[in-house]
Amino acid sequence: MKVPPSSGGVAFTESADGDVRHDMGSRRRVSASLGIPEEWAVLRQVHGAVVRRVTQAGDTGDGDAIWTSVPGLPVAVFTADCFGVVLTADDAVGVAHAGWRGAAAGVIAALREDMAQHGSSPGKAYVGAGIRPCCFEVGEDVAARFEGHRSKTTWGTTSVDLPAVVSEELIDLDTWYEGGCTVHEPGWFSHRGARATERMAAIGWL
Ligand SMILES: [Zn+2]
Repeated sequence: MKVPPSSGGVAFTESADGDVRHDMGSRRRVSASLGIPEEWAVLRQVHGAVVRRVTQAGDTGDGDAIWTSVPGLPVAVFTADCFGVVLTADDAVGVAHAGWRGAAAGVIAALREDMAQHGSSPGKAYVGAGIRPCCFEVGEDVAARFEGHRSKTTWGTTSVDLPAVVSEELIDLDTWYEGGCTVHEPGWFSHRGARATERMAAIGWL
């Protein structure tokens, strides 16, 4: 588990923590070690930009960002290569699931806007491990959506610098980056690299 320094209620799980999306035993162990309830508010993630504000735990429906102002209610997204982004305000916390589709759809901006509209503008952001330009090979159709963030894989093909796309949305916030690449570094679940069906979690709570 990665708990960013002086973060309050923010944590990112690693593969060693188990499949916290499907395996409730893993989720219970993670919750116990963080001292949070094992019932989290979660989404059916669809790689879009729908934001859900929640007041209770459980399945919230389709969406890719979730936030709450209820103390003690963990909100979480599940990832394996996509970036989990946690945004904190004094009285609210939100989490976004940002792969290239969600980033292109504006999921982080949508979460910031929804929180701000309710008077809870985030001041800090925390970005978990995800797929980095070293490993994120894409076709021309995807690269063309991210002009300015084109890069190369370590084997010389076209890639997109997805963490740079994400950080552009957080430029005015105090932001912590885990910095790891889920594909070529050990310790993470990777959909691309290992066709993993297991998922890690980005979790936020007040
Ligand atoms: Zn890599």
